[in-house]
Amino acid sequence: MTVRTRFAPSPTGELHLGNARIAVLNWLFARHSGGAFVLRIEDTDVDRNLPGSEYEIMEALRGIGVTWDEGPDVGGPCGPYRQSERGAVYAEQAAALVHSGYAFRCYCSAEELEARREQALARGAKAIYDGRCRGLSPLEQQRHAERGLVPSLRFAVPEEEVVVSDFVRGRITFDPGEFGDFVIMKSDGLPTYNFGVVVDDHGMDISHVIRGVGHLANTPRQVMLYRAFGWEPPLFVHVPHVLSPEGGPLSKRHGARSLREYLEAGYHPDALVNYLSLLSWSSPSGEEILTRERLIGEIDLARLGASDVRLDPDKLEWLSGEHIRGMEAEALAARLAEHLGDRYPEAAEQRLRFASSIRERITTFRSAERFLSQLYPPDPMEWSPTALEAMSREGVPRLLETARAMLRGVEDWDGETALLAIRAAGKAAGLKGRDLFMPVRAALTGATQGPELADILAIQGKATALRVLEQALALRYGSG
Ligand code: GLU
Repeated sequence: MTVRTRFAPSPTGELHLGNARIAVLNWLFARHSGGAFVLRIEDTDVDRNLPGSEYEIMEALRGIGVTWDEGPDVGGPCGPYRQSERGAVYAEQAAALVHSGYAFRCYCSAEELEARREQALARGAKAIYDGRCRGLSPLEQQRHAERGLVPSLRFAVPEEEVVVSDFVRGRITFDPGEFGDFVIMKSDGLPTYNFGVVVDDHGMDISHVIRGVGHLANTPRQVMLYRAFGWEPPLFVHVPHVLSPEGGPLSKRHGARSLREYLEAGYHPDALVNYLSLLSWSSPSGEEILTRERLIGEIDLARLGASDVRLDPDKLEWLSGEHIRGMEAEALAARLAEHLGDRYPEAAEQRLRFASSIRERITTFRSAERFLSQLYPPDPMEWSPTALEAMSREGVPRLLETARAMLRGVEDWDGETALLAIRAAGKAAGLKGRDLFMPVRAALTGATQGPELADILAIQGKATALRVLEQALALRYGSG
């Protein structure tokens, strides 16, 4: 069987991590199997569509390197890939169901339906469609039509047990009495979700439907439609919910950040793919830091978990740091250029140095920003309160003065030669180890933590290091 998976977002807002995980799983599985990954936009719920969100969803997917083989922008053999452009396909298939007796025209108005729903509830009965229009004669239908009523189309639910085979949850049986005859085409001519999804998954030859467990409740209706059409259903794979860290629903309303926001905050895209994949599945090796290639190689639907998972932002950040540490300095330097502003150096050599000196210390690209002011100190320099505290310790004024003198004398300035001068100054001042390096670091960078001192000295260069030391001495001790 050729594997064809799809991601079918509704353009009703940005992708949160729960939905992005579905895209990642479908994509990984298609790539693993050498199959195709299809992007389909389900935009028939016109009131909920949000302009621009189709574009944003695509941009966010591209941002994590999840690419589709067929979709609204790239086309493909089963297009169009936007449901709003597939009206003729739905009309044709709906007509086929009317013809075979599986669907009927319903002229009930929204008000009538609502009134009957309330009556049913008041009687303690199920609030499902009561089948009123199922048996309308052609003459009655004609009368309604003459009164100008536009019908919706409803599926005539057969009196048969419905069995959903789910790859994660096994066989689930549903009693047909649970479902009223449901609408497949609304009176405005647009398909309902359950109808559109079946027509399209079949029409696009989808082999595996991997989606959130929230859709499991829709699946029996979809299975009934497959049966009525005489089509083979795809393999259904319903994956558990992703919950917020507190265990509630993951939604924008509850402060969940979108995939775009994580990308803009400088999370490594590979870490996002890695993390989203681990939300559903784990590697048999037990390893957690996995490259895209390994994820594609190892993804295994049989290893999907069946219980809900909570988002763990700390773990995602940790993974981002791990993926950054796995980068070549050149690649990191290039990435940083996308996230750091004007103060990021222009020269390639300086960028490389900056990238390699901070690679071990950042968890997101954006978090490199704080090291810019350490390595490229502002003029005039500013010091953090902890730096000022470290600079005012016993013996430090003398140390800094001696260091200035020794640094002035360094001729072939590099990280090592400058560091030797600092050690010599420490010796003269009777300070070593942390007592020596901490105040020097504080004075030079304005902070008490950061890259290796040799890297700082090399990147700052002689003139800057001396300028900052002068300013430190002037600030604290009034000498020049
Ligand atoms: N448009 C649906 C959603 O965004 C897709 C559901 C499905 O994958 O079948 O939830």
